[in-house]
Parts: sequence; structure tokens; C-alpha cells
Amino acid sequence: MSWIGGEFIINDMKEKTLKEVYSSISSAVRHNADLEEFPYMGTDIMKIKPFHKGKIYDSQEEASKALSESYASWAKEYNVAAAFYDTSAAKETKHIKTLKERLEKEHQKLNDYVKKNDCKNFKAKLITCPKCESKINKKYILRNMCPLCKHDLRSKTVIETTQRYQNNIQKLSDEIHQENLKQKEKLPVRYLVGYCEYIG
Ligand SMILES: [Zn+2]
Repeated sequence: MSWIGGEFIINDMKEKTLKEVYSSISSAVRHNADLEEFPYMGTDIMKIKPFHKGKIYDSQEEASKALSESYASWAKEYNVAAAFYDTSAAKETKHIKTLKERLEKEHQKLNDYVKKNDCKNFKAKLITCPKCESKINKKYILRNMCPLCKHDLRSKTVIETTQRYQNNIQKLSDEIHQENLKQKEKLPVRYLVGYCEYIG
């Protein structure tokens, strides 16, 4: 018993649009199924039903999260379409522009900091893991992790500073999202289709 699943974004729930989605899902199924054994696979796609009809999620991410959280309640029974506000269509106000610039800078700072403080830049060729005390050749260290005990080899300061940059990035992204949502009334509503189909 194998199934395939995925997500699509569509602009509306018109019959014509849904027809196209059914046909896309059908191709995905037929592409993945053994058509010699199951020649009719993909000819009967499960109906797409509105997910929590009337509810419009605040973003594509939230719609996607809601679909996956209740996956067990719909998947393999029927397919779903969750409505969401397309925040990517929001007009870039002065305030949003400033926030985006700050976000960009924060990303840059984080990247520079991470690069600069990577274990690979330590002068010594061998690094001693403070946890398991192994002496490790730098070339075997990936993502600052001890290859033997998985201990994070970065200093407490580096870990905390990195975390601070990441928090700033999260905060700015949330702020941008909230600003975009202020234009809710004018934002287009799109639909996230979630599907799960039997392929034999
Ligand atoms: Zn170790």
C-alpha cells in the first residue's frame, strides 16, 4: 500500500480551476504508480473539500500547518483546500520597507558571525571536545558538532550570540507578517490544496 501526497496553491475554487487540480493530481499519481499492474490508477481522484469552510488562514504557512496538524482526519478519505490571505501580494509600505531592510541586515550579520566563528577557523589543527575529550582533526567537524558525541563545539558566547541574531530575525519576520496582515481586506484569498492519493 503506497500513497503520495503534496500541496498546490490555486487562485480560486471555480470548477475550471478544480478540474485542472484533479488533472495535476492524476498525473502525479500516474507518474508514481505501476501502470502495468494498475492501469486505471489516477483516473478517480478523491474529491477536494473546503477545509474548515469560512475560515481564512493568516498566511500560506498557517494554512499548511493546519492541514498537516489534522492530516489524520482527512488524508486517504478526501482531499482538502484551505483558504488563506496571500500576504506576498501586500503593498510594500514605507514601514514594511524599513523592516525588510533591517531583516536583510540581520541576516547578513548572522551569516558573517556564523562564518567567522566556525570551528574551521580555529588556528589549531586539532580540536579537543570538552565533553568526550576526543582530539578531532578539524576537517572531520561538520556544523560545529563533535563527530563522536555530537556535542556543540562552539563557545557559550557564540551559541548565545547566534541565538540572539536568530531571535531578532524571527521578531522582524513576525512584525513584517503583522504589517502585511493590516492590509487583509485588500489581500487576495488563495487556496492551499492538500492531497493524499493511493498509488497501488
Ligand atoms: Zn565529543
